[in-house]
Amino acid sequence: MADKSLFEKAESLGLNYLQQSLDRHVYPLSEDLSNLAHFEESMPEKSGNTHAILDLLDKYGSPATVSQVGGRYFGFVNGSVVPAGLAAKNLSIFWDQNSAMQVISPISAKLESIVESWLKDIFELPDETVAGFVSGTSMANLCGILAARFRILKNQGWNITEKGLFGAPRIRIVTGKHAHSTILKTISMAGLGKGNIEWVDVDDQGRIEYPKIPTLDASTLLILQAGNVNSGSFDNLSAICKKAKESGAWIHIDGAFGLWAGATKKLKYLTEGLEWADSYAVDGHKTLNTPYDSGIVLCQDREALVSALHMEGDYLIKGNLRDGMYFTPEMSRRARVVELWATMKYLGKEGIDEMVTGMHERAKQFASLLSDIPGFNVLNEVVFNQVMVQCNSDTLTHSVMKKVQENRVCWVGGSMWKGKKVIRISICSWTTTEKDILISVQSFRQALQESTMET
Ligand SMILES: *Cc1c(COP(=O)(O)O)cnc(C)c1O
Repeated sequence: MADKSLFEKAESLGLNYLQQSLDRHVYPLSEDLSNLAHFEESMPEKSGNTHAILDLLDKYGSPATVSQVGGRYFGFVNGSVVPAGLAAKNLSIFWDQNSAMQVISPISAKLESIVESWLKDIFELPDETVAGFVSGTSMANLCGILAARFRILKNQGWNITEKGLFGAPRIRIVTGKHAHSTILKTISMAGLGKGNIEWVDVDDQGRIEYPKIPTLDASTLLILQAGNVNSGSFDNLSAICKKAKESGAWIHIDGAFGLWAGATKKLKYLTEGLEWADSYAVDGHKTLNTPYDSGIVLCQDREALVSALHMEGDYLIKGNLRDGMYFTPEMSRRARVVELWATMKYLGKEGIDEMVTGMHERAKQFASLLSDIPGFNVLNEVVFNQVMVQCNSDTLTHSVMKKVQENRVCWVGGSMWKGKKVIRISICSWTTTEKDILISVQSFRQALQESTMET
């Protein structure tokens, strides 16, 4: 099966890529993008040459990547990769495991149960909490919401898995006006209807104004946020969760990148109270810097999660048996837990703390340097890793963002905040240094000068 030279070639091309991309222009050049036309062909009739395929992929594919693994990609909230995780993933690629069941992949089942217990330890969640290893927070949000739907209806004597939603009792959905778009998507996928959401006002940082939360009850799904995708702000979990729990509501926390604040000493205050919630969604591939794709659903109500995703009733997961498919919508799944395990084992609690706190420090540095430049206005309190910056008009903000993107020294995206354009900066890579920030701020300064002259 194995043509050793083929795999050696892949590895050496990959290593070259990694070395170069730490320091190259962050976004592909326009000629790199036009070269993608080389992939356009009709489906080949005959089988090809494996080496030639790899060469083609490297020649035109590698240059058309965005260097997310480097230290100056600040777009969306996209993490880099910790080498330990990447290397472990490379090994596991050869295993090609299906982590559906322990009997299919004992190693995947073992690592899933280890990582599950580590996550409970880090976030201080009760022992009965279970974890499902999915592709990202979108899927983890869906799983949490489906578990909530099961439990809320079951408590009212309605079996959703048997009867579906036709004629079911009503589920109330309460969330903040700044809930992530994937929350809206998953609410609609779960058949609950975006139109039924009871929206709660948010403050100037995007946090739920908790005195305005309507009276909750046992038919309510309350969705909170640990890490606003624009400002990085956190809903006040300690003020909200315990009280909400007492009302019988199900609390789901979207903590895609922010939940990891709970793994630090300095920023842990942001997630205080999270233990009162029922389910959580968090990514490995953002703040933790595991390779894509890696998301986790955590749920304190094992019966609800397993019944919602798999089957209800007489399933039994005995002793040390852990069949991963009980906790995820899929049956067959790749063993993405391998790189999660390797990343966590390599970093340890101290390493995670240092990495996440470092992202916060770099974000503060970025914000403070930009604030010193007349014409830039930082809009948010930098509580975590996100910075929002604005110029004096939408036109100028947009032009500066475009120029920064074209400079390719770093890459930032845009968003809207209170009806106006903002540039959004996310520090989400372990490789970002103070110098990376200095170089990037210089690019911002230059872009502002050029844009101001043109307008
Ligand atoms: C990124 C993000 C998501 C979606 O996560 P994916 O891993 O991209 O599916 C959901 N919520 C928040 C707050 C996010 O930042």
